[in-house]
Amino acid sequence: EVVVNRIAAGEIIQRPANALKELLENSLDAKSTHIQVNIKAGGLKLLQIQDNGTGIRKEDLSIVCERFTTSKLSKFEDLTEIATFGFRGEALASISHVAHLTIQTKTANERCGYKANYSDGKLLGTAKPCAGNQGTIISIEDLFYSMPQRRQALKSPAEEFQKISDVLAKYAVHNPQVGFVLRKQGEQPALKTQANSTRSENIRAIYGAAIAKELMEFSCKDDMFKFELECQLTQVNYAAKKAIMLLFINHRLVESAALKTAVDAVYSTYLPRGQHPFVYMSLTMPAHNLDVNVHPTKHEVHFLYQDEIIERIKQQLEAQLLGSNT
Ligand code: ADP
Ligand code: MG
Repeated sequence: EVVVNRIAAGEIIQRPANALKELLENSLDAKSTHIQVNIKAGGLKLLQIQDNGTGIRKEDLSIVCERFTTSKLSKFEDLTEIATFGFRGEALASISHVAHLTIQTKTANERCGYKANYSDGKLLGTAKPCAGNQGTIISIEDLFYSMPQRRQALKSPAEEFQKISDVLAKYAVHNPQVGFVLRKQGEQPALKTQANSTRSENIRAIYGAAIAKELMEFSCKDDMFKFELECQLTQVNYAAKKAIMLLFINHRLVESAALKTAVDAVYSTYLPRGQHPFVYMSLTMPAHNLDVNVHPTKHEVHFLYQDEIIERIKQQLEAQLLGSNT
């Protein structure tokens, strides 16, 4: 059973960067305003996230790493919405099957914090009292220690760190109200944003002034196909060899090849061949319009009215770029 669980967990947690994505979403769900990430060896030796969110109650510590344990059902309007998210309560459980997991946490109501170690979905021993501020520190050590092949399939620590940094950067742009810090253990921050900044400030801080200078912002709402869109994208004076696209659907970082192709097509009439924009898009829609079969680790999403929605986005983008080009 342990092996089966481990394989299943390895499907959900494929590399340090996607473990981090799950942990970031948990910290954001817990209403954190400061989130610090600390990395050793590209997240393979240590991937640690500290937040100042609600914390986890002592009585929940014995079950948080069991599969399907979630405190978030009330957040979801109905059963379809839960199903839409594909999986609930699997992230910590999965991580505990493929790494050494430690949780240190304190809620506002408890006098002291608690620290607990987990393996294969279970609390080891009991949670021990400890000092600490409100919030949660999750430490993942020796990721994939039990899966040597998986470990070998990963890239170098430097490349895994780059993927981690990329994920954190995108969440920082999407969540400008939250302050983020990313560092390699013992070093100066590799990435840092302030709490209560603006999205464009964060784009400047992370992606640089050349992009920030050419940014334009637009948003739209469509009642027919029930979506809202918020964008920050570069005008046609900006072009780079590498496209940068940040896409959030219902506040989750995802990929959509169809949308990316459409955006590229609009820009291609304005940009020199082989040159690309910077594009941030946050799309929201009723959760039940998202593909129910899509597993969150398959980052590629599909949604209802996809062709129509993409067509509308293309038209909007076309109009914006025309306007900015005159
Ligand atoms: P899910 O996010 O789908 O509920 P997870 O396995 O990611 O499942 O987390 C399990 C539970 O652990 C969450 O529902 C939440 O109650 C708790 N939790 C995890 N991380 C945090 C955190 N950083 N702050 C507060 N609670 C957390
Ligand atoms: Mg989660």
